Amino acid sequence: MIIVLKPNISRKQERAILQEIRRRGYKPHVMRGVARIVIGAIGDELTHQSLETLLTVFPQIVESVTPVQRRYKLVSREAHPQNSTVKIRDHILGGKKFHVMAGPCSVESEKQLLKTAEAVKAAGATILRGGAFKPRTSPYEFQGLGLKGLKLLAKARKETGLSIITELLSESHVDMVSDYTDIIQIGARNSQNFQLLIAAAKTGKPILLKRGLSMKIEEWLLAGEYVLAHENPNLMFCERGIRTFETYTRNPLDLSAIPIIKKESHFPVVIDPSQGAGRADLVRAMCKGAVAMGADALLIEVHPNPAEAWSDGTQQVSLEVFAELMRELRPIILAAGRE
Ligand code: PEP
Ligand code: MN
Repeated sequence: MIIVLKPNISRKQERAILQEIRRRGYKPHVMRGVARIVIGAIGDELTHQSLETLLTVFPQIVESVTPVQRRYKLVSREAHPQNSTVKIRDHILGGKKFHVMAGPCSVESEKQLLKTAEAVKAAGATILRGGAFKPRTSPYEFQGLGLKGLKLLAKARKETGLSIITELLSESHVDMVSDYTDIIQIGARNSQNFQLLIAAAKTGKPILLKRGLSMKIEEWLLAGEYVLAHENPNLMFCERGIRTFETYTRNPLDLSAIPIIKKESHFPVVIDPSQGAGRADLVRAMCKGAVAMGADALLIEVHPNPAEAWSDGTQQVSLEVFAELMRELRPIILAAGRE
């Protein structure tokens, strides 16, 4: 149920309504908007007292009580008609400003990471990406530098001021990864690892949730619901291509996910054209399409020497191509009503 409170409600009135929701056997999730407080109340309406009577019992406090039809409740736009934004250090993602997250697929060395960080910053990126723990298809491929990689990311943040995003692969790494990163990336291979999602949510850090390799949009939204249900409202959905019969791309990038997620949910949408193509030569076109279709941010793999990258060499763009791409994106970002 979605309970919208009247404007200018006192803390005492808010507490009274929350107490009543809990008393009836529901878990309240409070969403504070600029003008109003909206409460998502989760519980089994068949076995608990209905919440619909809140309107008549608390007419001075409650403006409306509406059932949410979707299986994903807190993530749905029914629960929260306005767009939600995510705060990443001093940046707001999902608002007027468009963000670009860029960096190598894997952190390989200090020199590689710092060189990339400086170049992507100079080109206009605000967030540095880099994998320290890599989910490789084969156990014989480079698995990431681990803690050393996280330390290098922290060093790059210190030197450039860029925020950082890196993947969390395992529940056993939650404390270590969240100590270093500004955004936790949940990868395509883990996006329905619900225990990992819960552990990541509990850190309170912003979560970038990739779409799984073969994930339906409803499953993706429900995976996001796990994050919200565990009290973390800092969620971003990241489309990165899905598995189909097509072989010209590694993962055909589903750009239709942008307007669909925007319609179904209030959370920001990020597009990763690098995994979602697997081809450096397609990255520019995919980025332009994503911006024009209303994405809130891009996640792009950039490497000083893609031919020698330790992972995903075919899809990473060079520092020069990245700078050119950022110049080409500027007018499209403006035309899309962003900055
Ligand atoms: C990555 O970002 O390098 C990565 C492994 O992504 P995905 O989980 O989308 O495959
Ligand atoms: Mn990669």
